[in-house]
Amino acid sequence: MAPALCANCMTERAVIKRPKNHAKLCKACFITVFEDEVHHTITSSQLFYPGEKVAIGASGGKDSTVLASVLKTLNERHGYGLELVLLSIDEGIKGYRDDSLETVKRNAVQYDMPLKVVGYDELYGWTMDQVVETIGKKGNCTYCGVFRRQALDRGAKMLGIKHVVTGHNADDVAETVLMNLLRGDLARLSRSTSIVTGDSRSEVKRSKPLKYSYEKEIVLYAHHKKLDYFSTECIYSPEAFRGSARGLIKQLERVRPTAILDIVRSGEDMARLVPGESSSSCACRGQNTGAFASAEDDIGGCGSQNGRTAGNEMAVMDKQLRDNEAHEGLETDVAKTMAESKQRGHGQQVKLGLRSENGAPHGVTRQILGNCKRCGYMSSQEICQACMLLEGLNKNRAKIQI
Ligand SMILES: [Zn+2]
Ligand SMILES: [Zn+2]
Repeated sequence: MAPALCANCMTERAVIKRPKNHAKLCKACFITVFEDEVHHTITSSQLFYPGEKVAIGASGGKDSTVLASVLKTLNERHGYGLELVLLSIDEGIKGYRDDSLETVKRNAVQYDMPLKVVGYDELYGWTMDQVVETIGKKGNCTYCGVFRRQALDRGAKMLGIKHVVTGHNADDVAETVLMNLLRGDLARLSRSTSIVTGDSRSEVKRSKPLKYSYEKEIVLYAHHKKLDYFSTECIYSPEAFRGSARGLIKQLERVRPTAILDIVRSGEDMARLVPGESSSSCACRGQNTGAFASAEDDIGGCGSQNGRTAGNEMAVMDKQLRDNEAHEGLETDVAKTMAESKQRGHGQQVKLGLRSENGAPHGVTRQILGNCKRCGYMSSQEICQACMLLEGLNKNRAKIQI
């Protein structure tokens, strides 16, 4: 079969089949199209203002590395006038975070951006390794996620920065939409689709410029741009429910590639039906940036942007891309890679949660935000989630000491 020509430039040989819509593109066109789409998301939701100082939540993983690289490129190309800083959280996970922090340190040099590292131990008195030692591996992703959200805000405050961008991608958003749909939690579903989270009370705004970017395209972008990122999965496993939602989305994507974006769009449309909530989506969908969502309702689970892939699919894909290139010394045929990846035992059972734990239907309620009585962090409860979790941990520690 003769090699197909790029559907965009019609001159170069197509080497990439876009996971998003199966368009066949050459390498240069794929990179441009990917960047243009992120630029479109940024401009249509008026995400930044000129001269804004922005911290990039950097884990060293593929998502945040691609985010840093794309933002640097777009900032220069389109004159956003942003002052970009890398902000890293050290969860205290030996053998995982140590190495990924080394990657972030190299990124800081490569992208010529200042880097700030904030540790869980200094913020909370606990490293994730100690948390796992105390509570076991089950549910530790919840702790990590809750601690991480506050840690990014606190780190940003230390730097005098009021806007943190994170590498959450379309797969992450779709996963959260699905989880909230299965829990029957429409209010939270609505907030999770918002591109900007945070609250007027909170000094730090959070946003996800890669909200419409597919995880697979992020891997392809990182590969073809030869970005330096850390691809080992987090050693602690994600919570079961999130893992199931993720597995289901990956299965749907195999049958219908647009499923991921369709779930994100459906989430945005449903958000508009929730009284008092408004979601921000791309302006071309006729919706302007609306009310901020609470940062507490931001995408949960492992914030490392790693370790949430069912069947380790992204790591497999990444390895195949590297191997193919090494073997052939040629451009990679992604369609082939995908087909091979499909054949390799991804037939695992996907378990689905059906209803929230107590089975009670949730009313759609609007949360009133105040500040945590203990730490002062913005919270819808008297005591914030992090302080609640810490209370449990510290009780456990006291028991052990007795
Ligand atoms: Zn082309
Ligand atoms: Zn608190």
